[in-house]
Amino acid sequence: MSNRPEWVSEIYYYHSDHLGSTSWVTDGGGNPIEYISYLPYGEEYQNERFAHYDDNIYGKEARYRFTGKELDRETGYTYNEQRYLCTDYGFWTRVDPLVDKYLNISPYAYCNNNPLKYVDPDGRQYESSDDLAFHDELYSAVEAKLTELENKPGMHRKEIKSLNNALNELDYMKSTEDFIFHFDKTSQAYGAQTNIIDGKIVMELPQEESLCLGIHEASHAYDLSQKILELGGDIGNNGDKAKRLIYNIVGEQKAYQRQFLIGGYNSMPKSKYLDLQPGEHMTYNDITPLYIRGIELYEKQDDGICHKKYIYESIERK
Ligand SMILES: [Zn+2]
Repeated sequence: MSNRPEWVSEIYYYHSDHLGSTSWVTDGGGNPIEYISYLPYGEEYQNERFAHYDDNIYGKEARYRFTGKELDRETGYTYNEQRYLCTDYGFWTRVDPLVDKYLNISPYAYCNNNPLKYVDPDGRQYESSDDLAFHDELYSAVEAKLTELENKPGMHRKEIKSLNNALNELDYMKSTEDFIFHFDKTSQAYGAQTNIIDGKIVMELPQEESLCLGIHEASHAYDLSQKILELGGDIGNNGDKAKRLIYNIVGEQKAYQRQFLIGGYNSMPKSKYLDLQPGEHMTYNDITPLYIRGIELYEKQDDGICHKKYIYESIERK
């Protein structure tokens, strides 16, 4: 018979840090059970168990540790699906399955030797922990909207289809081995945009926490990866390393529809071809190719002043 106090429930909660590593484990009553801290490559620095921690019960020690991955008790390695990570020495136990993609990095190196910034969810490629967190936020926002529309009276077939497509595209962006997608929230660009920089598909989002712009640019990023959208001229003085996305009405329509679904009519730009009465708001069906052509955007010019610009109006009709 266990001598555990009654109030220790069978439910445990993992509380993680910015990399997803378990730092605190508490029981159902919010009482601390275990505290773990790590050195940069995942070696455990502190592992403290609290007074009511019961050593006799197998499996009570936190199963998920560094970056939220399961610790294999027999080897002491961390299980990351494709490979085991030896956190005591800070490298992988075998070669990177995507070794030909990262020729300039040792195939045993963990996260490009930058374990404070990157995580490697399945042992294949390192990703920014910020990117993963923002990707999750976008995914949850789309799922929440989907649930809302499915429970709302009336037909929302087109909207539901658009949101389901968005989820599929986000899934692809997370799981593909062919591209690296990166959200840049520190961009100096005026307005959001998506480009290919140094082989990565970069979604620039100057307005930091904006989910609706994130979902808009994610739509373009996916289209770029599928070659539905094309890239044009060079950007700035990055030579041929950075290319600008060529605007396309169908691509913009899809992106603005998703922006509307996540951000609502308040997130949408004005269009000279959409007349709204005072107090009237635009709807999903107002996002037509004509609406896109008339969109008013602002661009900072050489004089430092923002000018109204109709960037989509000159797009070639196909
Ligand atoms: Zn766009």
